[in-house]
Order: sequence, then C-alpha cells, then structure tokens
Amino acid sequence: MHDVLPADQPWWDRVSRVVRDLADFYNFGRIETPILESAALFERGVGQDTDMVSKEMYFVKTKGGDVLALRPENTASVVRAYLEHHLSRVSQPQRLWYQGLFFRHENPQAGRFRQFSQVGFEIIGGANDPIYDAQIVMVFSRLLEELKIRNTVLKVNSIGCRVCRPLYKRQLQAHYKRYEKKICADCVYRLKTNPLRLLDCKDEACKGIKEKAPNFFDKLCVTCSNHLKTVLEYLDELAVSYALDNQLVRGIDYYSRTVFEFFVEGPGSEVGALPGGGRYDYLVETLGGRMTPAVGGACGIERLIHVMKAQEVKLPQKNQKKVFLIHVGEQAKKKSLRIIESLRSAGIPVVESLGRESLKAQLKMADREGAELALIFGQREIFEENIIVRNLKNSLQETVALDKLVEEIKRRLRNS
Ligand code: AMP
Repeated sequence: MHDVLPADQPWWDRVSRVVRDLADFYNFGRIETPILESAALFERGVGQDTDMVSKEMYFVKTKGGDVLALRPENTASVVRAYLEHHLSRVSQPQRLWYQGLFFRHENPQAGRFRQFSQVGFEIIGGANDPIYDAQIVMVFSRLLEELKIRNTVLKVNSIGCRVCRPLYKRQLQAHYKRYEKKICADCVYRLKTNPLRLLDCKDEACKGIKEKAPNFFDKLCVTCSNHLKTVLEYLDELAVSYALDNQLVRGIDYYSRTVFEFFVEGPGSEVGALPGGGRYDYLVETLGGRMTPAVGGACGIERLIHVMKAQEVKLPQKNQKKVFLIHVGEQAKKKSLRIIESLRSAGIPVVESLGRESLKAQLKMADREGAELALIFGQREIFEENIIVRNLKNSLQETVALDKLVEEIKRRLRNS
C-alpha cells in the first residue's frame, strides 16, 4: 500500500480528467459501489478457486458474524448493483464506468500493489453483440492514446463459452496429465481446480509443455468463432491493431469468449498488463439475475502513471495565471486575509506565503510559482487603503485602490 504525495497529484489529475472526458464522450455513466462487500459476492462472482479470492482477498469479520471483503475488483459489485437497482429495466445496454480503490494481498513487485486504483468501463445488457466488445477495447485504446502512452500492444483471445470450453478444458487436462510429474506445484493444483490458468504459468518447468498445449482457436464452437471474427473485424474498422494470443487467459472465472490485455514494450513494460478485460455473459445469472450479455475491462492507474513517467510523457502545462500576495509586517499579514478571500471569491487564483516574513523570500517564492502578478501590501498601503500591483514579467508596478483591486486584476489577467 502506498501514499500519493502532492508531487504526484498532477499525474493522478491528468488520468482522472482524461478518463472522465472519455466516459462523457462515449456516453458511460459513473457508478460508485462500496469498498466493502459481502465476501460471498466475490466467491460466487470471481470464483472460489481463483488466486484473487482464495489467496489475495482481505476479509473483515463484523461483530455480528458477517464476513465482508475489501473489494478486489469491481465487475462483481457493478453487476450486484445492476441487479439490486433493477438497471435492466432502464435503457439497455447500461454503459457504466468507475474509478476507485481495490485491495489484493499480492506479493509486492513492479506494478503490483496491495491497495491500487482502477478505472473500469462496463457495458451490461442489450444484445450479445460483438460491437460492444470492440467498443470496450476501443475506449481503453483511446485512453492510452490520450495519455500519450506509446509502444502499446493489444492481445486478444477467445476463451469460448459453456458449450466449447468444457471440451477444451478436458483436452488441456489430458495434455498436462501426461506431464504431471514435471510441472510446477501451482500447475498441479491448477490442473485440478482451474485448468485454463495452466496457460498463464510463467514457470520455466512448464514452458515447453504449455507451448505444446492444444490450441483453443481450433476448439471454439461456431458461435464463439464467429463472435471473435466479428470483434476483430470491428477492431480493424476502428484501426485498433491487435495480436491474437491463444494463451491469453485472465485470472477471473466470470469471463467467456473475448478476453484482452494491453501491454507496452520498452520502458515501463515491467509493470505488466495495463487495461485488461473481456466478456462475462454468465455473471449476471451467477449473481441471481437473468442471462445477460456483458463486457468490460479495467486498468490500474498506478501502472498508467508508471508507464507515462518511464516514457517521459510531458503533462500538459496548466497555463493558469496566478497572483502572488506579498505582505510586509504583522498588520499587513492580518489584513491580507480579507484581500486574499475577496480575490478567491472572484475566481482569481492567489498564492501566498503568509508564514514567511522576509520580502526577499516571498518574491523568490512568487517567481518559483510562476506568478504573473505580485501584490505587495505593507504598512503604508494599509494606511492609504491601496496595494502595489507589480508585473513580474517586466517589473513595472503601480498602486491600485483596494476597492478597485478585483476589477483591475481581472482586467490585467485578461489582457496579459
Ligand atoms: P484485473 O482486475 O485483474 O482484470 O486487472 C485489471 C488491471 O488492473 C490490470 O491489468 C492492472 O492494470 C491493474 N491491476 C491488477 N492488479 C493490480 C495490482 N495488484 N496493483 C496494481 N494494479 C493492478
């Protein structure tokens, strides 16, 4: 878990702003769900045998004996909210987005935190149309583009449906069974509990066996195969480039058909996947609703920021013009408070350094802040009810009556 210090806030603001603008543009409505949910929601939704639930979830036991969990992801919560608030009765599909904190007790490493922030987009309901898969992928592709993240690679796969996946799982198990003595301990476990995750193993011992595993593309049923084909055609149409990766599986049970992940190559690549997601046509049903098509994805914000820094992305300069108030003496310090508040009320950004006394130190600070104008207020100005307005670009200064100050500053900032 980590702190976000003031120096990092501009990065967070940038990501949040881009996400919000994209969400507005593509017509996603924001949804906020609680950080604590019933643990059973994730056990049912995400899957009891996934690492996320069986190893990484933080539990909270209430005095009354309820077992809650700090949410490890948001799709299950969004679907719970969709059902609880009968969002299926309003226009379909529901296009929802979120940004918030998530918790997984993972081994700390590059790009992996125990508390992290995700932004996510979900399209729930309506037709089972591959256009929605393409739109979700595209929204994330635009997010990376808007954040000026380069060298991105999009991997896409289909992990089939209730019809073709069980057949493929059996073939995969049969293949791995032959090597049961050679594979790593995790894969021995996965072989029994979650065979698709065998394809996710990074252990050297399992590498060769994985390479020879049966190919899912050959086993997809006609409907899944057509679905994938159409998603890819839409991505072509949107000029989003991708690589098919038949070993891409995700660590969550609810996915069916399309799954995707974005990565970067070169600087920043050590953080692993950026946006990732897929279709989850069975989740609404699993959580007690009717069979409802759905697709979505999420991206870790810490990872986005890490990659932006690694790729030396420049944040857009805020060219907000500032005014710096300099006080001289104890009386002026006190009277400055009202002046500052009247400027702020008029929407003029004011910076001050009321904790510093020396004129020199305050002028230096005004310079460091990149202020446009300095207002200098001392004993004489208190007496004459005026203030010195100094243009920090050309050092010209004049005295302005206090009751005309707001208007005068507005005029100057407009014209500068
Ligand atoms: P998931 O919810 O597992 O599908 O992950 C979606 C995205 O969230 C990943 O591709 C990462 O960008 C991010 N993410 C997942 N786990 C973590 C973590 N422990 N720390 C930081 N980011 C994470």
